[in-house]
Amino acid sequence: MSIDPAALTIAGALEGLAKKDYTSVELTNACIEAMRAAKPLNVMITETPDRALEMAAAADARRGKGEAGLLDGIPLGIKDLFCTEGVLTTAASHILDGFHPAYESTATARLWQAGAVMLGKLNLDEFAMGSSNETSYYGPAVNPWQTKDGPKLVPGGSSGGSAAAVAAGFVLGATGTDTGGSIRQPAALCGITGIKPTYGRVSRWGIVAFASSLDQAGPMARTVRDSALMLQAMAGFDPKDSTSVNEPVPDYCAHLEAGVKGLRIGIPREYRMDGMDPEITALWEKGMAWLKDVGAEIVDIHLPNTHYALPAYYIVAPAEASSNLARYDGVRYGLRVPGKDLIEMYENTRGEGFGREVQRRIMIGTYVLSAGYYDAYYTKAQKVRSLIKRDFDQAFQRVDAILTPTAPNAAFPIGMTHDDPVTMYLNDVFTVPVNLAGLPGMSVPAGLNSAGLPLGLQLIGKPFDEATLLRAGRALEKAADFRAKPAQWWRS
Ligand code: GLN
Repeated sequence: MSIDPAALTIAGALEGLAKKDYTSVELTNACIEAMRAAKPLNVMITETPDRALEMAAAADARRGKGEAGLLDGIPLGIKDLFCTEGVLTTAASHILDGFHPAYESTATARLWQAGAVMLGKLNLDEFAMGSSNETSYYGPAVNPWQTKDGPKLVPGGSSGGSAAAVAAGFVLGATGTDTGGSIRQPAALCGITGIKPTYGRVSRWGIVAFASSLDQAGPMARTVRDSALMLQAMAGFDPKDSTSVNEPVPDYCAHLEAGVKGLRIGIPREYRMDGMDPEITALWEKGMAWLKDVGAEIVDIHLPNTHYALPAYYIVAPAEASSNLARYDGVRYGLRVPGKDLIEMYENTRGEGFGREVQRRIMIGTYVLSAGYYDAYYTKAQKVRSLIKRDFDQAFQRVDAILTPTAPNAAFPIGMTHDDPVTMYLNDVFTVPVNLAGLPGMSVPAGLNSAGLPLGLQLIGKPFDEATLLRAGRALEKAADFRAKPAQWWRS
């Protein structure tokens, strides 16, 4: 039979595999064919079809013996920020040219233990810095969604390749990372689901570091259930990551259909921003009405320091990045550009190896950490961070989850915000507070705007309460009944 991977979900494919409608090798071949056809989207940095077919054959053999794991035989894409043993890992940066890690990240290792199949490594913003996938050394990934005869659109970022691949339909799910919104914003712009777990829920070991106190990995998939299945495999304590938290991982699918009856959903007044796209405000109102209709109580809440989250993030994240990126010196990894002495070699390597946005962040980070400015910027930003966390703590005494828009806009044309970093940073306005507070957050596709582009709503949960978040996400997904799919224009 011919398999259309774009029409499948992970849960559906697991059933198909269990019923022997098809084998994992057949499913994987269909994905490889679709991946090749999707070349115009520039979504892959490295394709690993041979490895995928080997993994699929092994999955079929396990299934034959009745030993199938949670994701056995399911083809996934991996954001190229996760180290994959022996497979080129670039972080979409020139400076990691030729870097083949000798180890596998814990998050991906757990997916392979659950039986998943790796189709390849996905495009992203360089070192995950960006909201549009345009800072990638490998060129921008393209959003499968388009307006009629309009320009090509960004898929969001930094996990733009992941979101585009899932939306285009040639992977059933993908990994993402989220430092300030990089799972949720591209999920929203591509009409898919993505969850950023609580800080400490998924191991960061073996993931190229951007801002270590904010980075979290999570799943991106077509449905809430698929995200729950992937998170189930990825989550859990890892002694190799000192910030990983030893909390039991509940069965995320067990109460997925329990609904939101009796749950209190908070609506933060401060997220009603001046000048916000009226279509986004309208969708947010719709989301409130949907949840109320199925039994949730809608509660007005205050998060008074929201206003300071974005400036605080754009101090803390570059500060940590400047320190994390100090290791790329032309000696230990990837690219080396020679110079007359060691210092000049460093300068040449870092000058050529890092793109403009990464250099900008290193400069901001170095500045805010410098002796004379440390207290004025870095210490102050950390204090703001505590206030933001306190706002959420107080709100969560009254509510079980919070509903907001995911991003202030839909997908925008490639090239539109070039040389305007501040406009780009504004894309993170609703997502960044969640990272500063270390909370779980998810984006659920909720509708199309008048131009036919997808929009998402964000749910924010209590620490380590991804189960409630997924349950509320599922209720929202049911109510929104988002079924639209992008036309596969890249095939013609
Ligand atoms: N867009 C944000 C930034 O550029 C967030 C990126 C991310 O979450 N990795 O920093």
